[in-house]
Amino acid sequence: MIVRCGRCGSQFDVPGVGRHLCPVCGTPNDVRAAGNGEGIQAPPQPLPPEAPSPKVICPGCGYKFIVGNIEVAPCPNCGEAVTVAAEDLPAEEGEEE
Ligand SMILES: [Zn+2]
Ligand SMILES: [Zn+2]
Repeated sequence: MIVRCGRCGSQFDVPGVGRHLCPVCGTPNDVRAAGNGEGIQAPPQPLPPEAPSPKVICPGCGYKFIVGNIEVAPCPNCGEAVTVAAEDLPAEEGEEE
């Protein structure tokens, strides 16, 4: 396995876990099991994708608009009160960020 010297940064091959001297600078490096090794940082947990802003389609005029976390939003086009129910929306193309 390849380890990285904690002092000089040189990478060298070791037969396994244990204490191994860096061939470049002689610093002993404690080698632990893969995943907890020297200089190896576990990648941060990926954050779950943020929920997109809910969109509703006005049943009166068909105007689609973004609403916040509210239950009923007035349509900006015709003024009709539109009930927000994100799960009823058709799937978006996924092009929007
Ligand atoms: Zn070294
Ligand atoms: Zn409308």
